[in-house]
Amino acid sequence: MKVSISDVVVTTREVDIPEACPKCDADFTDAEEQNVSAYEWQDQGRPGHFGEDGEFVYHEAALPDSGESYIAYIGYACSACGASLAEGTLETKDA
Ligand SMILES: [Zn+2]
Repeated sequence: MKVSISDVVVTTREVDIPEACPKCDADFTDAEEQNVSAYEWQDQGRPGHFGEDGEFVYHEAALPDSGESYIAYIGYACSACGASLAEGTLETKDA
């Protein structure tokens, strides 16, 4: 039985983030306000089975387990207004 698998190569770079939102002026350094959200990819495993056509079929009642491993961080956004502050890039190509 053949299935598809993805190989992931991660590069990390530094970006400049303002200390306050350029759109709504929310303070990103205020520990009580929590005005910035950091996004990451999490490795989630879900139980399932291979159907007759070989496609993976998720168990409908299963919720994913998270936190097994992750790639951080892939994006930052203002929690107050939703403004995007920085985004990582994603490129896919066929082998
Ligand atoms: Zn904002």
